[in-house]
Amino acid sequence: MLPKVIAISNQKGGVGKTTSAVNISAGLAARGYKVLLIDTDHQASCTVAFGLKSEYDNKSIYAALVGLSPIQDCIIRTGYPNLDLIPSTPHLVGAEIELVNFTEREYILTEKLEPIKPLYDFIFIDCPPSLGIVPINSLMASDSVIIPLQCEYFGIEGLELILGTLKIIQKRLKPELYVEGILLTMHDEDNDLSNQILGLMRENFKDQVFDTYIPRDMAFIDSTAKQVPVILSKKKSIGANAYDRMILEFLEKYNLRKNKR
Ligand code: ADP
Ligand code: MG
Repeated sequence: MLPKVIAISNQKGGVGKTTSAVNISAGLAARGYKVLLIDTDHQASCTVAFGLKSEYDNKSIYAALVGLSPIQDCIIRTGYPNLDLIPSTPHLVGAEIELVNFTEREYILTEKLEPIKPLYDFIFIDCPPSLGIVPINSLMASDSVIIPLQCEYFGIEGLELILGTLKIIQKRLKPELYVEGILLTMHDEDNDLSNQILGLMRENFKDQVFDTYIPRDMAFIDSTAKQVPVILSKKKSIGANAYDRMILEFLEKYNLRKNKR
């Protein structure tokens, strides 16, 4: 199966989920693919990364999930060609409670995405670092998962958590959900531990790990203030180049799968 909906997930915060979601989406859109990015973190970092505001609660992933607005009405243009966004809002926290009594509550997003799927080549879902009804909906709506992992000691702990969650979902709800790849982020070549983790991950998880890893790059921190994704800035930094290579690697895997069909 070709992945169309891809969750960017890890139950740990600050590992590069949002940075990866924003740059992979923007990079693919710049290559001509039609991309929708869905921000499902109530902190709305994706939304902010594009300099957009989630001021309209009725035009957000919250509104779509609780049925306040049709999902088509929640899509906003980012201003970049081929790239749309469904923003998040702090109200998304409330959805956790509001959705409790919905029937088939794990499948709400899956159903909502059905009519808009044909409009896009890829749909990326930026997940929060928690596990609740909304994140479970995101995983259930996805074909595959990209797991960003910080090249730090505590990174491995986060990996065990998310892999455990995915195993439960695969066993009980969605056997076909698969790991697209583990993406090592914030690698620091001058740091021994960072290099050890890179080696350890490749040894243990083999081709589940993307060959490309993302180096630590100050440009990502600056981009938050500039509100332009690093991958789209005119002067390419090492981090932007790494995401570019990662996208090529992702597309290569994608095309291999396509040709096998
Ligand atoms: P998450 O979504 O997993 O919480 P973020 O993508 O928001 O993580 O990243 C956390 C912080 O680290 C942000 O301030 C971001 O700008 C910064 N960051 C992300 N990737 C890198 C990187 N490769 N190098 C340096 N800083 C990074
Ligand atoms: Mg985030």
